[in-house]
Amino acid sequence: MRLILLGAPGSGKGTQAQKIEKNFGAMHISTGEIIRENINSKTEIGIKVEKIINQGKLVPDDVIIELVKDILNKPNIKNNFVLDGFPRTIKQAEALDKITQIDKVIFIDTNIDATKDRMLKRRVCPLCGKTYADTLVCPNCNVALVIRSDDNEQTINSRFEVYKSQTSPLIDYYKQKKLLFKVDGNQNIEQVFEQIKCILNEGNI
Ligand code: AMP
Repeated sequence: MRLILLGAPGSGKGTQAQKIEKNFGAMHISTGEIIRENINSKTEIGIKVEKIINQGKLVPDDVIIELVKDILNKPNIKNNFVLDGFPRTIKQAEALDKITQIDKVIFIDTNIDATKDRMLKRRVCPLCGKTYADTLVCPNCNVALVIRSDDNEQTINSRFEVYKSQTSPLIDYYKQKKLLFKVDGNQNIEQVFEQIKCILNEGNI
C-alpha cells in the first residue's frame, strides 16, 4: 500500500502511522523524524535546517523532495509505505506524483485547541527522533524521552499558520484526485485507528 497521512500538527499522524506499520507492514516514513535525526547527527542538512525547524517554518521543498525521492526509490519500500508529514506543499505533492502513484490519502481531521494541548504534552526520543504520546521512555532505544524543541507555544502557533496557508490546500488537491478519505481525529487513538482500518480494508490496496 502507498499511503499519505494528512493532518494539522499534533493530529496524531505519527501515532497512527506507527500503528499502520505494525498492523499492515507498510514502512512508516516521517520526514520530521528524518530531519530530527539529521539535526542530532549534525549532518550538513541537519545544520542547514535546524533554525528553520525551531522557527516552525518549512524546510525548503527541494531539500525534502530529494530526501523522500531517495527513500521511495529503494526496492523494499517502493510499493509499501505510509508517508507522515510529506507532502506539505502543493509543490511537494506534484513532485511526489512524478515519483510514485498514491493509493489513498487519509486526512485526520482535528480540532486545533485539542491538538495544541497534545503537542505540549508529547515527547521525542533524543536518539531515533520518534515522537510518542503515551510513554516517557523510548521503546526502541530505551532512553528517556524529551520535549521536542519545536513543541513550545510560539513555534506551535507558527506551525499552525504554516499548515493553514501551505499544507491545507492539499485537502482539495487530493479530493480532486478522488484519493481523499477523512477520519475524525478528535477520538481516542484506538477509535481513530478503527476508522483507518475500515478505509484500508476497503478495496484492493
Ligand atoms: P513533524 O515531525 O512532521 O511535525 O515535522 C517537524 C518539522 O520538520 C516541521 O515543522 C518542518 O519544519 C519540518 N518538516 C517535516 N516535514 C516537512 C516537509 N514535508 N516539508 C518541509 N518541512 C518539513
